[in-house]
Amino acid sequence: MSTATVTPMCSITIDGHPLQVPPGTTLYDAAQAAGIAIPVLCHAPNLQPVAVCRMCVVEVEGARVLQAACIRQAEDGMVVHTQSDKVQRSRAMLTELLMSDYPQQAKATPSHNGHVGKRDMLLELAQQQGITTPRFPSRPFDNGHDLSSHVIQVDHNACILCDRCIRACDDVQSNEVIGRGGKGYTARIVFDNDKPMGESTCVSCGECMAACPTGALTDKPLTLPVLPSTPLQQVDSLCPYCGVGCSITYSVDTSTNTIVQVAGRDSPVNHGRLCVKGRYGFDYAHHQERLTVPLIRKPEYYPKAVEGLEQPLQAFRQATWDEALDLAAQRFLAIKRQDGSQALAGFGSAKCSNEDNYLFQKLIRAVFGTNNVDHCTRLCHASSVAALLDQIGGGSVSNPFSDCLETEAIFIIGSNTTHNHPVAATFMKQAAKAKTTLIVADPRRPEIADHADYYVRFNPGTDVAFLNGLMYVILQEGLYDAQFVEERTEDFDRLRDAVQAYTPRVVSRLTGVPEQLIIDVARAYGRAERAMIFWGMGISQHTTGTDNARCLINLALLTGNIGRPGTGLHPLRGQNNVQGASDVGLIPMVYTGYQSVDDAAVQQKFEQAWGVDLDPKPGLTVVEIMNEVLLGNIKAMYMMGENPFLSDPNINKVKKCLAAMDFLVVQDIFLTETAEYADVILPGTSFPEKTGTYTNTDSRVQLARKAVEPPGQVRVDWHIIADLARRMGYPMSYNSEEQIWQEIVALTPVFRGITYARLQHQGLPWPCLEPDHPGVAIRFTDEFPRGKGKFVPAEYAPAKELPDDAYPFVLNTGRVLQHWHTGTMTRRARALDAIAPEALLEITAEDMAELGIASGEFVRLRSRRGEVRVKAISSPKPARGSVFLPFHFKEAAANLLTIDALDPYGKIPEFKFCAVRVEKISSDPAVPQATG
Ligand code: SF4
Ligand code: SF4
Repeated sequence: MSTATVTPMCSITIDGHPLQVPPGTTLYDAAQAAGIAIPVLCHAPNLQPVAVCRMCVVEVEGARVLQAACIRQAEDGMVVHTQSDKVQRSRAMLTELLMSDYPQQAKATPSHNGHVGKRDMLLELAQQQGITTPRFPSRPFDNGHDLSSHVIQVDHNACILCDRCIRACDDVQSNEVIGRGGKGYTARIVFDNDKPMGESTCVSCGECMAACPTGALTDKPLTLPVLPSTPLQQVDSLCPYCGVGCSITYSVDTSTNTIVQVAGRDSPVNHGRLCVKGRYGFDYAHHQERLTVPLIRKPEYYPKAVEGLEQPLQAFRQATWDEALDLAAQRFLAIKRQDGSQALAGFGSAKCSNEDNYLFQKLIRAVFGTNNVDHCTRLCHASSVAALLDQIGGGSVSNPFSDCLETEAIFIIGSNTTHNHPVAATFMKQAAKAKTTLIVADPRRPEIADHADYYVRFNPGTDVAFLNGLMYVILQEGLYDAQFVEERTEDFDRLRDAVQAYTPRVVSRLTGVPEQLIIDVARAYGRAERAMIFWGMGISQHTTGTDNARCLINLALLTGNIGRPGTGLHPLRGQNNVQGASDVGLIPMVYTGYQSVDDAAVQQKFEQAWGVDLDPKPGLTVVEIMNEVLLGNIKAMYMMGENPFLSDPNINKVKKCLAAMDFLVVQDIFLTETAEYADVILPGTSFPEKTGTYTNTDSRVQLARKAVEPPGQVRVDWHIIADLARRMGYPMSYNSEEQIWQEIVALTPVFRGITYARLQHQGLPWPCLEPDHPGVAIRFTDEFPRGKGKFVPAEYAPAKELPDDAYPFVLNTGRVLQHWHTGTMTRRARALDAIAPEALLEITAEDMAELGIASGEFVRLRSRRGEVRVKAISSPKPARGSVFLPFHFKEAAANLLTIDALDPYGKIPEFKFCAVRVEKISSDPAVPQATG
């Protein structure tokens, strides 16, 4: 006999409809489910109900007063009326009272309050109830406007104090910026301690604006001020920036072909949330500097100047597509004939779609005849992938990041999550508030450490020692999962022996972390029934990057924290499609789905499909390709959407490579620093101008849709690639992106069940093997792709270039919230550039005092490879003896300084560690900028 207990349902009646609802259901939710509309102002599905506006009141038979439906729970036998006279009178009176205080200007444009894409729910209610001129006097007080934010305008007079913005900021984004101030008529929302919004700690995520039900918080127009009567087209798409891959909806003014607003879209990835880049970084696509015609370098601009040109556009003349593509095809073919296929190479782009990148690598492999094809994954998580492939047999994450809501402990290491993956960070902060233990470890204190139970600052470059120290304690205290180790892993003895030397005392000496903190963190992670590890480029961008990742994999295997919900390994992917670009073969060692180029059966399959002989040897990686260019072995390149000038280490060397190439074709949306060295420039499409699939950090394949027409003669990227292939004698003919996707699927078993028709609005995670399969979100539940998980111990080794008397500081590089990668897009997005217009060098107040530098003063930052002139600011984030410089800014390019020493396995450069010197210089802006 079954012992399962069945929860009794409540039988209720709403407006005469009998309903059965689970206990705890609110009357509002019950009515919603039955299709009965109850008006609300303060309530929203993603916020905790607070019942302050009383607009949702309903009449419950037998109750003394009207009940707020958003919080009143159903009880068995309840009879509810949502439209009784009493209810209607209450609603009308509330609406009239609220409208009496509502600003006249807002009332004048009731359809959407003059603000594009924003529903004014109060005005809608007033319209429904026929309230035009309230009988009551308006409040005798002007609460004013706040226009200080770059993205949001505040009309305090239109605020109804419903607290939706406060809950959105606190509970959804966990930014805790907004509160209430004042009393009576002067009561209003305040930012921090009543600062102007633009001077507060607001991070401009726009969640409060999206939650506001009136015209109190509205977006400032970034492109066009749109007339209320303009019909706006809604296009569901994706954010083009980070690997989180948030779902968005574009509002498009079709009459001017302009995106006017972006809103978060509900999906399993972001639940409607966005960060400042996703919400306000869209206008780059309409920037006047877009490349709109093909360009060819003029003869008088040869040889190319290593240092570039004052006015680079002058070096080019406009060309027709035929001219530009014929020239590209002829030169590539000539070099292939004369110097062989290995003299050619290509960089694709983690910003482009799966379809673009698939065709790009197909062109390099099938037409150029080489596997020398790579992209910026090499600069991001190549070391993580190398370790994962070796130890587990698969290079992707094991669990989606949203699993952090189901875990007991979150361990974030080497990730500035609130800046680099802001929406993922909102879930982590939310979990931490709900009592999940949060451990944050990073030499530079990231803001998410404010929410942590344990913050560990370890000496830069000592990750392996620290992680081995944790495993030492876990083993010593018997906190490891002996059964998991026995059943699902191999080489445990090697790990156990290797970490014996990493006692807390030894590790404390190496890392600078107090012994007790090492023990406490090991216990917090080791004792958790479910624990997740997240890491970023602080782990991967080292010459020991693969060893760092190995230690994290060892830690998860040792504690059995993989293969279940709320556990796992999650290297947070950088670019929006860095996962997908790798998945579709934009790396030199593998075809689509990580099928090795040196596997004879795989090679045969692709040769048959593509109808050509293929190179059986793995190709060269990004930095290796650049080295071969300098040696004269690689003579020509095709670069699509990649800007190695700013993204690669040791820019002075990169410049020499770019200038040294016999022939360079760059396909991009702007004249990037790299494009300045091109022979032919092909204008490509920006993200909202094309349809295609993109794969986020969770390995979820999602569909982005074209929202606007490209400008000028711009052509869709895959059309350009196919046309070039054709002109090089290899037919590539496709009708649509979907047809390209079908070819990818036919060659890639892990995508077998994914079709455009199935992707629609939610996407699907891979592997997805059958047409009705939902995709695998949690991987490795029973076994790893390689069978057993393998422990691979790592020994601590110092960074390649340690500080010394000449260069006494450690330079750490990375991103800031408002900018993305080389800034090509974000620095042309008006709001983002206005919020973060310049590079700022972070340095501790103590080091500044010692150097005699004031915060805001310009300094010269010098390494053995180059120097930059940059404004220094005092910051508590770096440790003493360390400085941090973002790498988005050409005028203070961090990669002039970084070292191009490589991790031997992942071939990733050591962006996160090199020795530098900080020198005081004049603050006179007339002082010429150092160029290195
Ligand atoms: S924009 Fe975001 S951070 Fe700023 S106040 Fe609104 S919700 Fe808070
Ligand atoms: S978190 Fe990433 S994907 Fe989401 S809105 Fe921000 S930049 Fe875009």
